[in-house]
Amino acid sequence: MKIGTPKEIAEGEARVAMTPASALDLQKLGFECCIEAGAGQAAGFTDAAYSEAGVEVVKTAAALWKTADIIAKVRQPNETELKRLTKAKTLISFFNPGGNEDGLELAKSKGATVIAMEMVPRISRAQKMDALSSMANIAGYRAVIEAGNNFDRFFTGQITAAGKVPPAKVLVVGAGVAGLAAIGTSTSLGAVTYAFDVRPEVAEQVESMGAEFVYLDFEEEQQDGAATGGYAAVSSPEFREAQLAKFRELAPEVDIVITTALIPNREAPKLWLADMVAAMKRGSVIVDLAAERGGNVEGTVRDEKIITDNGVTIVGYTDFPSRMASQSSSLYATNIRHMMTDLTPEKDGQVVHDMEDDVIRGSTVTHAGEITFPPPPPKVQ
Ligand code: NAD
Repeated sequence: MKIGTPKEIAEGEARVAMTPASALDLQKLGFECCIEAGAGQAAGFTDAAYSEAGVEVVKTAAALWKTADIIAKVRQPNETELKRLTKAKTLISFFNPGGNEDGLELAKSKGATVIAMEMVPRISRAQKMDALSSMANIAGYRAVIEAGNNFDRFFTGQITAAGKVPPAKVLVVGAGVAGLAAIGTSTSLGAVTYAFDVRPEVAEQVESMGAEFVYLDFEEEQQDGAATGGYAAVSSPEFREAQLAKFRELAPEVDIVITTALIPNREAPKLWLADMVAAMKRGSVIVDLAAERGGNVEGTVRDEKIITDNGVTIVGYTDFPSRMASQSSSLYATNIRHMMTDLTPEKDGQVVHDMEDDVIRGSTVTHAGEITFPPPPPKVQ
């Protein structure tokens, strides 16, 4: 069978779902590979590099979608792309199945199989295919780099002949995958780093990375995320008040705030309110990684960087992985290659779509003329 990758068509998207390196691995699984001309250009992979790796370079998107049996891409497909699917084709990409009913209906009407990368179950066996995590890891790292780029002081403290420099104080709100990556980057740059999460079980991870976990003066324990499958639930009003009071206390102290707090299937909770922004020092920086879901910060403007009247920069970009397109393409392409390994048990270039397999079942959102989203809960943890 042939696996092909088109050029991403979403504006500003620089990632690509196949790299020359991943193509070599896909060929070892027995697949032929093809790519649309120029698809890897923005991520630093030339057509010549693909050709050298044995990949056929196809001139147009239409020709690519026609010739490939399996199409691997990054972003949710648009209508034109979905109309190119047929019963014999499999699409693997982010798909936003919970908010893309029209896309599901169209893929179903074509009889195509669609594997949605955000639906890969978060179980140990599937970590190698977990593109949400590989992209969140990049976003967390890049958020700190972006903050540093907008912050006109050192992260690390220094004692120099020209004077003593205090370390920057960084607060990371939400210690999931992106938050932990931000914490690791911040501590490695030498900043004094604080982190808060509603899930108390992350305190140990936060502390093992050299940051300080922020505890609340709250009589009940911080929520136990284990009850919600490792994800956070909406906080009680009392808990939220205690959290906001703690943030109010920290706002004049911290130089950089990175917010990453999300609750599945909801708008991002507003946690850093206008009065906290107003209480921050001139020159402070906030990076709101939740901007795509409405933002954790009052005043975030999606996809923009603004400077408030009191001189605080608020960054609301939603394309951090694309800003590191070479790295994120390599990791995403590896996630896809692992998915293909599981789909090709005989390594003979023939896909076996085993709907009894938890990972494949969980990720498949249309198959054999049916919408198969949402999936049943996984059998194996
Ligand atoms: P996410 O992106 O859904 O949320 C980010 C963080 O925000 C979470 O840690 C959440 O607890 C936190 N949060 C929510 N509301 C908050 C609030 N009011 N204040 C502060 N923080 C708040 O999370 P994620 O990065 O996708 O990770 C979710 C869970 O999945 C974690 O337990 C993570 O370890 C786990 N996970 C498991 C696997 C695996 O086993 N394969 C892979 C990735 C993630």
